[in-house]
Amino acid sequence: MSEALNILKEVFGYPAFRGQQAEVIAHLASGGDCLVLMPTGGGKSLCYQIPALLRNGVAIVVSPLIALMQNQVTALHEIGVRAAVLNSSLSQQEAIQVEQKLLADEFDLLYVAPERLLTARFLNLIARIPIALFAIDEAHCVSQWGHDFRPEYIQLSILHERFPEVPRIALTATADMDTRKEIIERLGLNIAKVFVSSFDRPNIRYQIVDKTNSRSQLLTFIQAEHPGDAGIVYCLSRKKVEETALWLAKQGLSAVAYHAGMSMQQRSLNQEKFLREESIIMVATIAFGMGIDKPDVRFVAHLDLPKSIEGYYQETGRAGRDGQAANAWMAYGLGDVIQQRRMIEESEAQHRFKQVAARKLEAMLSLCETTTCRRTRMLSYFGESIETAGCGNCDICLNPPQVWDATVEVQKAMSCVYRTGQIFGAGHLIDVLRGNLTDRVKEWHHDKISTFGIGKDFPEKTWRAIFRQIVALGLLTPDSEGHGALHLTEASRAVLKGQQNVCLRQQTKIEQLSRKRSGDDLISLDSAERSLWEQLRSWRAKTAKEHGVPAYVIFHDATLHELVRLCPQTEDELSQVTGIGARKLDKYGTYLMEILRDG
Ligand code: ADP
Ligand code: ZN
Repeated sequence: MSEALNILKEVFGYPAFRGQQAEVIAHLASGGDCLVLMPTGGGKSLCYQIPALLRNGVAIVVSPLIALMQNQVTALHEIGVRAAVLNSSLSQQEAIQVEQKLLADEFDLLYVAPERLLTARFLNLIARIPIALFAIDEAHCVSQWGHDFRPEYIQLSILHERFPEVPRIALTATADMDTRKEIIERLGLNIAKVFVSSFDRPNIRYQIVDKTNSRSQLLTFIQAEHPGDAGIVYCLSRKKVEETALWLAKQGLSAVAYHAGMSMQQRSLNQEKFLREESIIMVATIAFGMGIDKPDVRFVAHLDLPKSIEGYYQETGRAGRDGQAANAWMAYGLGDVIQQRRMIEESEAQHRFKQVAARKLEAMLSLCETTTCRRTRMLSYFGESIETAGCGNCDICLNPPQVWDATVEVQKAMSCVYRTGQIFGAGHLIDVLRGNLTDRVKEWHHDKISTFGIGKDFPEKTWRAIFRQIVALGLLTPDSEGHGALHLTEASRAVLKGQQNVCLRQQTKIEQLSRKRSGDDLISLDSAERSLWEQLRSWRAKTAKEHGVPAYVIFHDATLHELVRLCPQTEDELSQVTGIGARKLDKYGTYLMEILRDG
């Protein structure tokens, strides 16, 4: 294992293994099969890249994502590892060249698309050379029930049949038990050692705020916490994606859009821009994200409620893959609850599917309305528990909300729904409760009913929050007509009869939290450090451009941070910095020393 650690330091420039990396590497390097479940950003790649360098022969890496393969290979070239891709992006000529080099033992790693790997030609080819290992990335693609099912993945069991002596490692970031079982079964990994890491992402700060005006809330959030950072903003509809991107651009931010309705060309243009340039904000539907391994996404914002905790966790997990502080921020309001409930109601799906969808939405809503630690809730949803009472890095832990007994107010709201005939939305109901003499109130003579004006003592904002929570709790439900009209449910009865109390959360003071920038504090840098940071960044941008690679392939933010903090003055000190291995020291050391000395 000391050899593995040496490679980690010398080649990759990292001082220590993370989580279970060391155990996985030891097991695989000694010839054992393994299944590795690690969250996004957990460091799965090193688990096979280091054994690839330790073992004799070439490591064959199967991946379904062409763009991702290329990125990995580019990053490997940067640190001097001999690697190549073999997939449909190559011309026939190029593919033949790769094959020849493969036979001549010129690679440590070869990334292959599954359909290519399964051809008789390729299988015969690799039968002629020593193979270090097979790595099956995104192994959940074997699952027929998952979103990412790839039929070729099922046939990958052939690898074990043809090459029984070659160890295999399957990797995925999908957490659930069923998928895990399916991977083991379909890939014949019964004797494989299973490594399950915690799915916790402690560097991500979760924050869910009450939606008032989501756009300006978003802008305030970005300006306060993420000036100059790259981030992703998720919206539900294509239209909203385009409008939001345009609006952000008008506010002077570099925002681009991505959704399935755009032309292929425009989409990949915007995606490239996001990957390669710095400080780009990607506004997208959930069509965007799979296979995006940009490590320095500093925030993920949701302007609409996701359908499930699985989705939310996956989308927010795209923030902070480099382990540096990142934010997952969401604005959520009554409209979201109504919209999602209605979408399930109106969908053409069978009853069984609707039930599953409704259950998932319930779990998501209770995450939004929780008065206890968000992270603890999400992890327990995935069957994991955390030891401490709270995580200390979510809005609830940082700023615990007050809970109040709102039974009387909820009863008032419900009677108002009942007395107005269960055909109105929250807006009108609040007008009646607050005693507003609007045209509509007059038209329906709602100023004559007993609930008119009985809610005067609360502002509209509070009433909206009350309605949102009542609907989230299932005590009122929107009708299926699509006008947001609310009606009573089975569960309403007990509350109306006074048999059940309802506790709600008080509005949290969001502003207070937002001003504290999370974690590694750029704002706390003094002006000299700040200027050094800017110089390093612009040198990195320039170098990346010259090499035609994304900036993070040159150095991660974490490396630049450490450079600013430690300000190394000798080559030896420089080599101690995380992310600076022998090759990068050799290539960039002199430039860095120049900047650091001046700085
Ligand atoms: P995953 O595939 O699990 O999402 P990656 O393998 O892409 O994650 O790793 C995420 C990031 O963490 C990468 O940028 C990688 O360089 C970095 N990383 C991995 N292992 C270590 C380590 N031991 N020390 C420091 N950084 C690491
Ligand atoms: Zn918490």
